[in-house]
Amino acid sequence: MESSDSVRVAVNIRPLITMELLNGCTDCITIVPGEPQVQIGSHSFTYDYVYGGAGLPSASIYDDCVSPLVDALFNGYNATVLAYGQTGSGKTYTMGTNYNGEESNDGIIPKVMETIFRRVEAMKNSTEFLIRVSFIEIFKEEVFDLLDSKATTFGRPPIQIRETGSGGITLSGVTEAEVRTKEEMASNLARGSLSRATGSTNMNSQSSRSHAIFTISMEQKKISSCLNGVNNDMGDDILSAKLHLVDLAGSERAKRTGANGTRLKEGININKGLLALGNVISALGDEKKRKEGGHVPYRDSKLTRLLQDSLGGNSKTVMIACVSPADTNAEETLNTLKYANRAR
Ligand code: ADP
Ligand code: MG
Repeated sequence: MESSDSVRVAVNIRPLITMELLNGCTDCITIVPGEPQVQIGSHSFTYDYVYGGAGLPSASIYDDCVSPLVDALFNGYNATVLAYGQTGSGKTYTMGTNYNGEESNDGIIPKVMETIFRRVEAMKNSTEFLIRVSFIEIFKEEVFDLLDSKATTFGRPPIQIRETGSGGITLSGVTEAEVRTKEEMASNLARGSLSRATGSTNMNSQSSRSHAIFTISMEQKKISSCLNGVNNDMGDDILSAKLHLVDLAGSERAKRTGANGTRLKEGININKGLLALGNVISALGDEKKRKEGGHVPYRDSKLTRLLQDSLGGNSKTVMIACVSPADTNAEETLNTLKYANRAR
């Protein structure tokens, strides 16, 4: 499979955490020095980027993988960052989805927020910006609005996905909060994170079974520089684009949740989204298939349907596969590395 320009794949290996060290776990992943290549057992995989492992700081994830997507947003192109991996592999840590505007956080989302508002400030004499955020989750193949404040009282009615005439995807009735500062943006993220569905599995008592999608949309309009009040051509052009920051559901197999009927159904539905995502990204990366107008199976899940206008085409996508290095997680780690390899 050929690597495509519009989809990049990175692997982020977190350090062994205290619990794993206490349990005597050992590190089972090796990074090939100077190469974006990892080895586990007899398997070897190459990606666009590999982070983590001994002595390699993961600080450059933002610069390498995400900063070009923020550029794309300012240039009017949609973009998507996806964090994939089993529960406990570092998706939320890597994305910074739990950032509340106060605590320091090395995650991607706080850096995105900071960069956006720094650039907006620098451009304010020439450009008017309208920035909105929405925050939804997909749980059991239904879309829920995490910023709907009435939802807690009345239960949460699912949101419908719609396609506009020009092929854009919208969510009917979703809350789109206008934000003017990084702090306002962060407070919406924190509010939505709080209302994420919770449920308990053997893997994690916090919810890991839903996909959380924080979307920043941006409209830009050049401020007319015409002194005599006559509109120039630039005046009415609005450039709009959106950036999706996606903390995917845990990729572990349903059987590992030790689940009864209900849990199993949730597991299967989660896999539906992740399965469809793998198929879509794999189809996009397949140069030949794309040129022949090959079928990209966006319609196979709510996740891919919702991201349809921001995966492939002119948009930019980066998938960050998060893995634990612990030998006890070797089976799921191998599954993740295979999934990510196929996406590339
Ligand atoms: P997930 O969202 O995939 O379930 P988390 O982001 O919650 O996983 O991470 C699981 C645990 O590992 C947390 O305690 C988190 O603080 C820790 N962790 C994850 N990535 C790193 C990292 N790069 N450095 C240090 N600790 C990490
Ligand atoms: Mg998480």
